[in-house]
Amino acid sequence: MSKKDGEVFSVIEYYIKNHNPDYSCDQSLKNWIKCKEKITQKITIPDHTIIHDRNHKEICRPYRFSLTPLERSGENFRYYCRVLTIWIKEKIENTGAKPNILIAMGGANIFAKQLLLYLGQYGIFLEFGSIKMNRVVSGGEMTMEYDSNHYIPDFDPGKFNAFIIEDFLNTGLSVDTAIKRVRCDRTKVLGVIAFTNSYRKCWPFDVPINISFLELPFEKFPAGTCPEHCQKISG
Ligand SMILES: [Zn+2]
Repeated sequence: MSKKDGEVFSVIEYYIKNHNPDYSCDQSLKNWIKCKEKITQKITIPDHTIIHDRNHKEICRPYRFSLTPLERSGENFRYYCRVLTIWIKEKIENTGAKPNILIAMGGANIFAKQLLLYLGQYGIFLEFGSIKMNRVVSGGEMTMEYDSNHYIPDFDPGKFNAFIIEDFLNTGLSVDTAIKRVRCDRTKVLGVIAFTNSYRKCWPFDVPINISFLELPFEKFPAGTCPEHCQKISG
């Protein structure tokens, strides 16, 4: 395998970076930059909260992003999903992956359904469709479990060749937990697809395909060192 572990492909970032300034069609670059601004405005950035990251460190950062306002915008969201699907199709063809299910992290279910639709339109039909997993906290430990209202006929995770679907990849904790969880059931994880992510170029998942529509970078701080909160406390 030639690619580096965890290397992520971000669609908008690719279009912006690979724009050739010598071409006169620099409208295309402007459009992608504008598209990124539009999405960033729609996705309201929530307040900081101290949360545990994947490595159980306490960090201060925006928490609980929601794609709902973007999804409600309808046409635009569907267009973004369609463009992303073109690239997912390319990655599937390049790696020879044979996905048969999308496993959505909670609210990412709407996003997963949209991808499923477009994959079908591009000739990639997933036998088991999409399925949802929810965060379950028991005894202070967070796990991911299949939504019991969401089982599919002949449910057999050992037959799944899955993409894990997340709407906003923030700490990566849900995805990381889900990957470990489904691998216990002999599910093969082909990749992680997130609509937006704050991880930028490298994702911490040991999977062949990592793909996102756009990066939404913001700073995170070890708990107690966040300037935003230091200012609030002192001022
Ligand atoms: Zn903070």
